[in-house]
Amino acid sequence: MNEVKDLLLNLLIIIVPLFLYQTFWIDKPGGTLIASRNRIAISILAAISALGCMAFPVFFLPGYVYDLRLVPLLMGIFYGGVRASLIVIVVVYLYRWYLGGVGFSVVALLYPLAIGIAYLFEAKFSRWDRRRKMYAGSALALFSSLLINIVVLYLIDGPPLSNPHLPFIVSFVILHGIAMWIAIYLIENMRDKAALRFEIQQSEKLRIIGQLAASIAHEVRNPLTVVRGFLQLLQSDQIPEEKRRMFLKLGIEELDRSETIISNYLAFARPQSQRIEAIDAAERVEHAAGIISSYATLRNVEIAHQARPGLLIEGDPEQLSQVLMNLLKNGIEAMQSGGVLTISAIDEGNLVLIEITDTGIGMSPEETARLGNPFFSTKEGGTGLGIMVTYQLIQSMNGSIDVHSEKGKGTRFTIKLPRKYD
Ligand code: ADP
Ligand code: MG
Repeated sequence: MNEVKDLLLNLLIIIVPLFLYQTFWIDKPGGTLIASRNRIAISILAAISALGCMAFPVFFLPGYVYDLRLVPLLMGIFYGGVRASLIVIVVVYLYRWYLGGVGFSVVALLYPLAIGIAYLFEAKFSRWDRRRKMYAGSALALFSSLLINIVVLYLIDGPPLSNPHLPFIVSFVILHGIAMWIAIYLIENMRDKAALRFEIQQSEKLRIIGQLAASIAHEVRNPLTVVRGFLQLLQSDQIPEEKRRMFLKLGIEELDRSETIISNYLAFARPQSQRIEAIDAAERVEHAAGIISSYATLRNVEIAHQARPGLLIEGDPEQLSQVLMNLLKNGIEAMQSGGVLTISAIDEGNLVLIEITDTGIGMSPEETARLGNPFFSTKEGGTGLGIMVTYQLIQSMNGSIDVHSEKGKGTRFTIKLPRKYD
């Protein structure tokens, strides 16, 4: 019975790091995309998990240690790649050597075979679909453990088939297959979900970019018309020098303004960079207010922003922009008869608060409660994904978001993010 308990503990030691991987890696901004760091993270977790398995072995014959370390070892190779997985391999070898006993020579001689096979398939593995990964991974775990256990059985004196531990050893081998199956299933599931989330986030961003394009074009056309007018005036020779200068100055200002509009827009439109750095909240607030201003003007909304400079938070600046754009755009769309939309950034204790307040149609408590659910939209042509993406992004920055809304009066979103000092 004790063995069952130990087997379950080993299984737990394999599964828990997977959840750590999800919480602290996949769900963070920038996590999954940086492949090399991702590989190292996986290998380190696999090494920890292998160490855990070996520290709490399932079963002990003098000289031998029975545990599920092969599973994290193979997972480390499949998901960490050839180079990063050296971490796991070295850790397993060193610790097993430290534990001592005849078992170590079996490990030293037979593991290279399992590791070699895993290395052979490693490059292909990442391209396989989930089922194939699960079958192949489990088969390899099963095969390696079978091989090792047969050799060990022969090394132990006496005929292997009458070994009193045979039932345990058979289930131990089978458990390798099962554990590998579960581990691959979990990790694939987490990755699929993360990829889906990222895709939704990207397509929501593209949608906003598309919708802003029209208003940006509109906004840029005005300065062009003005500049054209000035140039036409300048064609004439009879313009006094001081007027000439004024026309030139105004023309340049107009061109500069449209240049700023376009470059802000392009900065927002470029593909996600996924970097994590210290972000000045005020700068992001101004940036977002700048990009959205054409859209606001078109809908008779004025944007008032006030932000204290120097309030730092940590995250991906592009993602914070996307969050602000989502909320500002919703605010503008809620203010069907125009008005003033305010956005501010202040500090409160160890938090930075970014508040977006509109005087629009507001929401009933039921609607407020549904915010963040996918596909909840009251707009024609709305996707109901903007707020969901917003919540996810804020969560990944370790922040939270409060909504206060009154039907017919307006809505206030308060983003709370941990302040970073330096
Ligand atoms: P979409 O804008 O595509 O409808 P969102 O996820 O951005 O999707 O918003 C979901 C819904 O939440 C909106 O359709 C609207 O009903 C409500 N909503 C969001 N922001 C506001 C706001 N500032 N004022 C009123 N309703 C809002
Ligand atoms: Mg929206």
